[in-house]
Amino acid sequence: MEMKAWKLDETGKINFYDDVPVPEPEAGEVLIKVNAAGICGSDVPRVYRDGAHNMPLVIGHEFSGQVEKIGANVDKGKLGKRMGIFPLIPCRKCPSCREKKYEMCSNYSYLGSRRDGGFSEYVTVPEWNLIELPEGVTCEQAAMLEPMAVSVHAMRQLPIEKTDSVLVCGAGTIGQLLVMFLLERGMENVYVAGNKDFQKKILLDMGLPEGHFYNIKDGDLHKWVMDKTLGSGVDAYFECVGRNETIADSVELVKAGGQVCLMGNPAGDMSFSKVNYWKILRKQLTLKGTWNSSYLGDDEDAVSDDWHYVMRKLSEGKIHPEKLITHRLRLNELEKGLLIMRDKTEDYVKIMVKF
Ligand SMILES: [Zn+2]
Ligand SMILES: [Zn+2]
Repeated sequence: MEMKAWKLDETGKINFYDDVPVPEPEAGEVLIKVNAAGICGSDVPRVYRDGAHNMPLVIGHEFSGQVEKIGANVDKGKLGKRMGIFPLIPCRKCPSCREKKYEMCSNYSYLGSRRDGGFSEYVTVPEWNLIELPEGVTCEQAAMLEPMAVSVHAMRQLPIEKTDSVLVCGAGTIGQLLVMFLLERGMENVYVAGNKDFQKKILLDMGLPEGHFYNIKDGDLHKWVMDKTLGSGVDAYFECVGRNETIADSVELVKAGGQVCLMGNPAGDMSFSKVNYWKILRKQLTLKGTWNSSYLGDDEDAVSDDWHYVMRKLSEGKIHPEKLITHRLRLNELEKGLLIMRDKTEDYVKIMVKF
């Protein structure tokens, strides 16, 4: 059997094929018929600048679908079920894996960056990586599980209280999803710094109070934050941009004793001025990194992992990530989506490929 698939043949060269052999699931794996796959911001440099770890490769790590076929030693009950997919395949041997902190595995494989991922009609996935979709959760929502889990993982890095003031800097997909989860949690003082008015529209629609979004192009973020916090600065700052200036802002805009969560992938080298370094010391700040998301598979304590947290919120109807989908494309239009994101020719948040 043959299938349609996009392959990153080499850096900068992504090609659409309609005659790729459908892969066979090995023991412990299933064959997924992909239903929806989101384009991640990281796919753009992967395709056009950095390449993937192995090429040719089917990219795409944010996807969901239906179990079409099972390999040996897989629970037969999974056949035909709709699944979300945790894209990281841990080594299970390294120190992080032994503590079940798979997101920090030092020798992992990854669907869509190290082995074939979701921008094809079919893909093989280890059974352990499947998370079944409850009724009412759509495949489109499930294709956003990964970025949602990443934002929940970040949210949980900082111990924050309902009344704390929180600034989310950067209103791309991850920043917006983070705001969605902060609001769902009942946080009363969430502020967002973005750079586009359409971001504000989506956030207000999500429940962000009017006046809590600031377009950094409007001038003085520092003054705005100090006005909102009666001169003290915010309790917590989530940095979702990854630039020097926004990290410098973080140590300025949090109050003494405040917390900063660093999330944005770095745009380049980072450097701190002496003045800002002093602020970390004198204000006794906490700087916390976050990476990826936690997932425990079928383990008993799975309710506490990020993926199951998100799934519970989805099935209870408490979150609506699909509001962030600005474009829906067919599989053969994937490249159009990548180019919109690379060249920023249109406003977008999440671009979704539907099968
Ligand atoms: Zn991603
Ligand atoms: Zn490992």
